[in-house]
Amino acid sequence: MSTTPVPVVWSPATRDHDPSGEIWIGVPTPGGEDAERVDAILAATDNTAHQLIEATAHADDALLAVHSPGLLAHLRTVHDEWLAGDYVEQVGQDRVVPYFFPTATMLDGLPMHTAAAVHGRAGQFCYDTMTVVGPGTWSAARAAVDCALTAVDLVLDGAPLAYALCRPPGHHVTRQGYGGSCYLNNAAVAAQALRAAGRERVAVLDIDAHHGNGTAAIFYDRGDVSYGSVHVDPGAGWFPHVVGHADETGVGEGAGATRNVPLTPGGSDPEWLAAVAELRDWTHEAAVDALVVSLGVDAAADDPESPLLVTPDGYRDAGRLLGGLGVPTVAVQEGGYHLPSLGGLVVACLEGLGVGFGHAARR
Ligand SMILES: [Zn+2]
Repeated sequence: MSTTPVPVVWSPATRDHDPSGEIWIGVPTPGGEDAERVDAILAATDNTAHQLIEATAHADDALLAVHSPGLLAHLRTVHDEWLAGDYVEQVGQDRVVPYFFPTATMLDGLPMHTAAAVHGRAGQFCYDTMTVVGPGTWSAARAAVDCALTAVDLVLDGAPLAYALCRPPGHHVTRQGYGGSCYLNNAAVAAQALRAAGRERVAVLDIDAHHGNGTAAIFYDRGDVSYGSVHVDPGAGWFPHVVGHADETGVGEGAGATRNVPLTPGGSDPEWLAAVAELRDWTHEAAVDALVVSLGVDAAADDPESPLLVTPDGYRDAGRLLGGLGVPTVAVQEGGYHLPSLGGLVVACLEGLGVGFGHAARR
């Protein structure tokens, strides 16, 4: 079966982010969003037809169209500010970890000012304790955005498909809040850049095991960028807990342009692929002229971060279904944390995308 090769855009700077673990329910844990993920995926693309391309630097335009200037300024400087404080000396903490979250329940209608203390401000932008900032976090997150934008360039220049090896991942980042091991929303930036380049309707389809609450929020009131996601049911107790339910379908001009398909824990290829096919059909009806795939492979059976049980063949079939839409497609890496199988799952999905696109092109 012939498959269209997919250029793989990467950047060595995506290895710079070293969170040194995360704090989960108050306990430091090793975490799993490591730089080794980049090398596992690169290794799997060796000896394939996929061409490696290094990302080029891009301006902040598309980034500022989906994120607040305040979020970007915070992420760019907060680690230096943290080191300039006495957090290392006093408590031995050299990573930016928030302890205080000004939620809607705390504010209760009062206007919010910007916190003077760095440890107070940290929770104004970060909404969990897992997503810590270290010395290389900004350069890696910004490089991941450049990977996504370079992949967009390839597609705008005529490549049918391109893959951005983004790390850290991005789909949990809202307009001004980061969390879920994500700092900048690579997929949202890619979708926005496609719109800015003249694509009229863009779809983001998210097959990561978790609901991409950030991408969903950014486009929730927009009709020009739709968001569809299959993920483990937050109603069964999974991150992001309070959003990602089936009754969230968009508002205003975005009414009907969001679709969530939550799956019961333990779901495997049949249920998962039925959901992917449903999202594919829904996207086809919307007559989009570009697609962004939030390609998380943490729905795989071996992955420690989700209870879904998708196989490598499942990922290949999902790629085939989405490639079958036959529209220019940018696939953006999201989650996937089982180092021995991670790269193979990504390559399986890229192969499927190539096969599906080839079939669509011959129709
Ligand atoms: Zn995930």
